[in-house]
Amino acid sequence: RFISLEGGEGVGKSTQVKALAAALEARGISCLVTREPGGSPGAEAIRELLLQGEETRWGAQAEALLFAAARADHVEKTIRPALEQGRWVLSDRFVDSSLAYQGGAGGLGIETVRSINAFAIGEHFPDRTLILMLDEGRDRAMERDRDASDRIGGRPSEYHHKVETAFRLIAAEEPNRVRLIDASGSPDEVTQRLVAALGDLLP
Ligand code: C5P
Repeated sequence: RFISLEGGEGVGKSTQVKALAAALEARGISCLVTREPGGSPGAEAIRELLLQGEETRWGAQAEALLFAAARADHVEKTIRPALEQGRWVLSDRFVDSSLAYQGGAGGLGIETVRSINAFAIGEHFPDRTLILMLDEGRDRAMERDRDASDRIGGRPSEYHHKVETAFRLIAAEEPNRVRLIDASGSPDEVTQRLVAALGDLLP
């Protein structure tokens, strides 16, 4: 199975990817944990290009295509081989980050970015996408942004609000694949919600 974890800034996504992998491993499921942008040597090289120069270097179209190119390589070199070995793949961000960031917040539109990515990844959409949502997330993100000059972004709260709105829209459009997960409470509680949202996929 192919699972992606998504979410805006400061929702504890990276912690939860690891915790979810541990919970699945405890059930005897072999997991490959990966992340975007990156996850294969070619995609990591593109990540470096994306991280250089912040928002000034790339136009919206070029940026969306670079994310999609990195994703195509990530699928071909890392995700598909692991799935073929019968492993589960957990990706920290995947196509829905592009739909929300480049499509919804970046102004290209969700449908345009979806079609670029449909070309890039073919049928390899996740079996389930879990989007962590936290109302206070934006405030924590803004604080982090002040001293995070090496991140892709460093964007204002209005941008993050558009990202959240796009995530909600995507979840409404594809309720079977995409689930919104409440990211409040203790880390263990959140992990339990993630596992519960995979209930129908578990062996
Ligand atoms: O996963 P993480 O929170 O570390 O991602 C870092 C940043 O990369 C995000 O906050 C977002 O601004 C940016 N990003 C993006 N488009 C994507 C994926 C990530 O702008 N498709």
